[in-house]
Amino acid sequence: MTKSNVSRASRTKVGGKASVEPCACCGIAPDPRGRPFSITFDVPDVYLEIHPELLATWGDDPFLAIKDTGFYLRVLLPVKLTDGFAVDFGTWLKVDPEVFRQAWQTWNFPEYKDLAFDGLLANRIEPWKPGLRTHVKARVREMDKVPYVVESPDELGARIVGETWPHADVLAPYAELLKSDPPVEG
Ligand SMILES: [Zn+2]
Repeated sequence: MTKSNVSRASRTKVGGKASVEPCACCGIAPDPRGRPFSITFDVPDVYLEIHPELLATWGDDPFLAIKDTGFYLRVLLPVKLTDGFAVDFGTWLKVDPEVFRQAWQTWNFPEYKDLAFDGLLANRIEPWKPGLRTHVKARVREMDKVPYVVESPDELGARIVGETWPHADVLAPYAELLKSDPPVEG
């Protein structure tokens, strides 16, 4: 990863010294309570590819419009992993303006539970690095969470969402993020 577009940002409690033994193969310890890791992309990839002087945006996380580029919504992409691991990628979908408007209008209302939409993945998530034309479908699962990616008509997208992946392959690009011992100042 060249730019710091990923973090372990999450609204839930994560981090702290691992209370379970790290995996022998990859050195990463699964969450002691079996929760998925949170790996969060701060912004759509395109945001980092536009010259700062040309970058004009409206909104913020989870609603971001980028002038001359499009409309983006934050979603969770859950990925099943082997050996008790799992990860929820916090990522972005590029959506139609009408979807963006509907999400904005229902986000804090009971109608949110019925929100479902199509979009294009807006982060090249490692290790798959899906193209930015990868089409997925998202819908609300929990009222207090952003929508989840639930399926994809694209071959790679469907595999990412549907398969159980070798955890070391998927987590390797994020190993430094997930081995959470603090750096020791010398
Ligand atoms: Zn491992």
